[in-house]
Amino acid sequence: MTEKRSRVVLIPCDTYEEDTVYEKLKEGIRLLGGMEAFVKPEEKVLLKPNLVRKAKVSRAVVTHPAVMGAAARLLREAGVTSLTAGDSCGVGTAGATAAGAGMDAVLEKYGVPVVDFTGMGEVPYENGVQAKSFFLSKEVFEADALINVCKMKTHALERITGAVKNMYGCIHGLHKAQGHTMYPSADSFARMLIDLNQFVKPRLYIMDGIVAMEGNGPTSGDPVPMNVLLVSKDPVALDSVFCHLINLSPEMVPTNYHGERMGLGFWQEEHLELLLSEDGGREITLTEAARRFGKADFHVDRRRARSGVWVRMSRFFNVFQKKPYVDREKCVKCGVCVESCPVEGKAITFADGRKNPPVYNYKKCIRCFCCQEMCPHKAIKVK
Ligand code: SF4
Ligand code: SF4
Repeated sequence: MTEKRSRVVLIPCDTYEEDTVYEKLKEGIRLLGGMEAFVKPEEKVLLKPNLVRKAKVSRAVVTHPAVMGAAARLLREAGVTSLTAGDSCGVGTAGATAAGAGMDAVLEKYGVPVVDFTGMGEVPYENGVQAKSFFLSKEVFEADALINVCKMKTHALERITGAVKNMYGCIHGLHKAQGHTMYPSADSFARMLIDLNQFVKPRLYIMDGIVAMEGNGPTSGDPVPMNVLLVSKDPVALDSVFCHLINLSPEMVPTNYHGERMGLGFWQEEHLELLLSEDGGREITLTEAARRFGKADFHVDRRRARSGVWVRMSRFFNVFQKKPYVDREKCVKCGVCVESCPVEGKAITFADGRKNPPVYNYKKCIRCFCCQEMCPHKAIKVK
């Protein structure tokens, strides 16, 4: 991190009409030097969307195909010939998830295949603060350059999922679940994510905030129009601007707080340079950005985090902690939550052979919220 200010470009956009998104994204990226500043034509480039699991695109669970299409088109125009898109989904394959959202059809126009992350290798990372190695998908470490195309959403563990968190899809398959047991707290998980971003070093981060997700994110929340795309080289700065737009103090997000301490980027206002892509790219303040694009009552967890000692005591006595619970009215007893639980012996199980919804063993539960994230029926909430 050598620059003293990180540039984040805010691109007003209130539609997913493909040509409009392309034109607007092009202008936004021009203010960062153009796509040519991030990739070379001879490089093998991987687009990394958020394809956490299959869902209708209108639910704002996955990156919108129009944003992926615009990024692919700009990369082609920059001369990139080897271009793929892929993710390691929480449930299902990238191909099926992309098809479910209509992303494959849009990317096909630019000759971009959606690849399933099938291969894997353990790669050491000696410089890691929290993680000394990663089980990375082969497609990630075989790419020369990665472009992170994330979605603006809430998250039960980290409060938000944006630029930094989207990189977790680079971890291969079941190792994602294991990662939650290795890094069970929001802080340790955030530090691992920062190590991962520093190891993979995405060249550019693009955030789809045209329609964001508030509430019970990252998969069971409610779509909300924010009418903006954000682009930056600095994922912490980008996530920090996202926080300002939703009236959340950026330092309350562990990936921001640790991200600046560990040198990934900046969250503090004096280190942010905000440009509005209109009017040739004029500088705007955070206050103006929040006035223009913000939603002060955006549904996100704004409560202060408790101190380490308090957290340890809460865990020990199993009280005063956030807990997932099953909404019995919505549960269809599909069992996806049980399959998703990374804890040995499972912290959520069917007590009576699926006659009733599954039940939690809160003494075992590490509060990773994988079950809440993977429930396809919005039946798991957090209290
Ligand atoms: S994943 Fe959701 S719907 Fe399926 S059993 Fe679990 S709580 Fe019920
Ligand atoms: S029950 Fe849910 S929150 Fe608890 S450990 Fe299992 S997946 Fe994580």
